[in-house]
Amino acid sequence: RKNLIIFGTRPEAIKMAPLIKEFNNHPDFQTKVCVTAQHREMLDQVLDFFDLKPDYDLNLMRPNQNLYSLTADIITQLKTVLEDFVPNFVYVHGDTTTSMAASIAAFYSGSKVCHIEAGLRTNNKLSPFPEEINRQITSRIADYHFAPTEISRQNLLNEGISKDDIIITGNTVIDALLISKERVANLNSKEINSLKNLLNSDKKTILVTGHRRENHGEGFINICEALKQIALEFPDVQIVYPVHLNPHVRKPVYEILSEIKNIFLILPLSYPAFVWMMKECYIIITDSGGVQEEAPSLGKPVLVLRDTTERPEAVQAGTVILVGTDKKKIVNEVTELLKNKKRYAKMAELQNPYGDGKACKRIVNYMQQIF
Ligand code: UDP
Repeated sequence: RKNLIIFGTRPEAIKMAPLIKEFNNHPDFQTKVCVTAQHREMLDQVLDFFDLKPDYDLNLMRPNQNLYSLTADIITQLKTVLEDFVPNFVYVHGDTTTSMAASIAAFYSGSKVCHIEAGLRTNNKLSPFPEEINRQITSRIADYHFAPTEISRQNLLNEGISKDDIIITGNTVIDALLISKERVANLNSKEINSLKNLLNSDKKTILVTGHRRENHGEGFINICEALKQIALEFPDVQIVYPVHLNPHVRKPVYEILSEIKNIFLILPLSYPAFVWMMKECYIIITDSGGVQEEAPSLGKPVLVLRDTTERPEAVQAGTVILVGTDKKKIVNEVTELLKNKKRYAKMAELQNPYGDGKACKRIVNYMQQIF
């Protein structure tokens, strides 16, 4: 049985890495990896950490990349890969342009499509951003749907997908995190050592990340104003912010926050350093999907800088709070978590609704029964 696993961005690499490892432990599968490198550097850091060498590297990242040419390039270049390897199964992940375009290419080639992290939905087709459409198109094409949770399974059932083709697995991001958490504890890393030097281990640390296009402009300005107020009101708290490389993010962040002495603006962290930082911090403020899924496994409360989410499980479980980009709301919720120990402890001890670290085993077990 020939598997081709295709991905292009950092979060996909993190979430696919443990699946590749799991398949490689099973001799009845021949598994090859193809990266589109929709993101280059951030992808390569993850590949290095997990010691993965792609069999095919399309190297498609271009300056000022646009979705038209990216989609066309992925489909046309995958033709060669698919004709060379002729996989039985193509695995794609989540909601990226790589996943959507690779599903189309796999369909043209006659391979079966397996969708990992299937069934997340905002159902907001008016959104100008491609994620929701990417995941819906991928669901229309996929033959097997690996849903992380019951809610995601239900979303797929509601769209008419047969229950026999949906498998609840948990999210593979937890598999990756549990493997990495152990390794990071003993890792001799320059990056982690410099974080240790930068931070005062006696102070509470708030870790911040943000990159979503929906927050560009006014959203990031409000977020930064909120962080500024928190830093000034709580001089004994330190804020660490690995700032995304996108200029729409960097501009407001550096303009508003660079002069504040208990805010540390740093470059995006490699995945192991970020895992270390998540373990060390007290609260996480983020708009990232993956970080929301990871943080409850480390017992960290998360404030999510979005008004809607395709991940309602954590909000329902109480491990995350949606604060949007409203300055007052962000400041109030952080203040509450810093001052109210009971509330903090309650959030920190909740179980992670996204998985138990065995998602990849479930996927591989299922695939062994196919054929
Ligand atoms: N992450 C990282 N370095 C950082 C920030 C995040 O390695 O400086 C990791 C994080 O652990 C998570 C993933 O990147 O697994 C999330 O990626 P991102 O926020 O870019 O995408 P999203 O999850 O929103 O799709």
